[in-house]
Amino acid sequence: MTGIFQKTIKQASQAARLINLDKKLIKRLITPQRVVSKKVIIKLDSGGNKTFSAYRVQFNNARGPYKGGIRFHPQVNLDEIKTLAFLMAIKCAVVGIPMGGAKGGVQLNPKELSFNELERLSRAWVRAFKNYLGPHQDVPAPDVYTNPQIMSWMADEYSRLVGKKTLAAFTGKPLTEGGSEGRELATGQGGIYILNEAVKKLGLKLKGVTMAVQGFGNVGYGLAQLAYQAGYKIIGLSDSQGGIMALNGKNMDPLKVMETKKEHGQIHACYCLGTVCDCVNYKKITNDELLKLKADILVLAALENQITGGNVNQVKAKIILELANGGIDPIVDGILKKRGVLVLPDVLANAGGVTVSYFEWRQNLKNEHWPESAVFAKLKKIMTDSFNEVWQTMEKYQATPRQAALMVGIKRITEAM
Ligand code: NAD
Repeated sequence: MTGIFQKTIKQASQAARLINLDKKLIKRLITPQRVVSKKVIIKLDSGGNKTFSAYRVQFNNARGPYKGGIRFHPQVNLDEIKTLAFLMAIKCAVVGIPMGGAKGGVQLNPKELSFNELERLSRAWVRAFKNYLGPHQDVPAPDVYTNPQIMSWMADEYSRLVGKKTLAAFTGKPLTEGGSEGRELATGQGGIYILNEAVKKLGLKLKGVTMAVQGFGNVGYGLAQLAYQAGYKIIGLSDSQGGIMALNGKNMDPLKVMETKKEHGQIHACYCLGTVCDCVNYKKITNDELLKLKADILVLAALENQITGGNVNQVKAKIILELANGGIDPIVDGILKKRGVLVLPDVLANAGGVTVSYFEWRQNLKNEHWPESAVFAKLKKIMTDSFNEVWQTMEKYQATPRQAALMVGIKRITEAM
């Protein structure tokens, strides 16, 4: 079976051909500049040692320092990290920020580590990749199962190794340690700006448009909360343990779902082990059922490859907001287009996160702290301008939104190359 990296670069190469890009340039564009794999060893609380596979892929820095998250997850592998690093390069170019693309990860279930073991792992990751990192070289951020606490340990370890406080080496840090206002909500907020523009284009009335959200972590919870406040009607939510669905057309308040999840779930190390399924007043459903709910909008905010050949024909949504990187298998994009589903692709829809990370990096370099209102005003302008540019490209080339976003991103990267 073809891996996700091959499928993703095939799709990008097709978009590059639509803008008549030279073959040699396409080859350079789809080849990572540096792939680093390491074994990271930590001491366990029990006294023994444990070794983990760890990665950093620096895909392209033609437009600025490499930028991209670090993922701690059992399914992390090099094919996935390469794909995510490529998407980061495209994404930064789509929203026009001067950063390149990278991604990192460790293959493990972080929920099995204690707080102290998690700290040792985070610091060990930095020691392993130190030579490739730095504010003007490569600036990591949080991703799945990494968070401000982990970024704080990582930034601290980096500062210790280079002998001076270097806040701009990592983004997504806690507010008290150089983090930006608005960073936690940034990906969801950026997604809402994109979604609102799309809803306008389709002539839908925002109030009461129904929405199902897969993934209830940083991104999914943030998006659901903002969508609820904006007037969208939340009818389904899910996380890794399953999903819930509102009965009799009722609306779900994501804040209340989160409160219940925290109340019932134990906090272990940096993670709440609770689930949306702890909410008893909703019908329990599986993740697969959530993807097929009769909702106007389906939000993907968990992992890659959720809409595939196996379930694409049962998706009932009119719009898919792809906040998860690679949430849709590239081979089903054409089917979704034929079925009239508007896909707001990852490289546009979830770019709010990296945009505010870029703001954080700039604030750290200049020793500034911007108010949340300034952060969101700048974010809104970048997201709506990017949406309009992608939309115009889509109309001009009769392309899908993903092809159009790829064209915009590829054009900017290859011009810089
Ligand atoms: P997170 O770890 O905070 O949350 C992930 C959520 O997905 C959790 O609720 C988890 O339970 C759920 N999940 C895991 N497997 C699932 C499954 N099979 N079905 C349903 N839910 C499942 O991670 P996050 O930061 O919210 O990232 C989510 C997605 O958004 C990822 O694809 C990530 O790459 C992407 N993304 C994140 C950011 C960011 O700022 N954190 C920015 C851009 C894109």
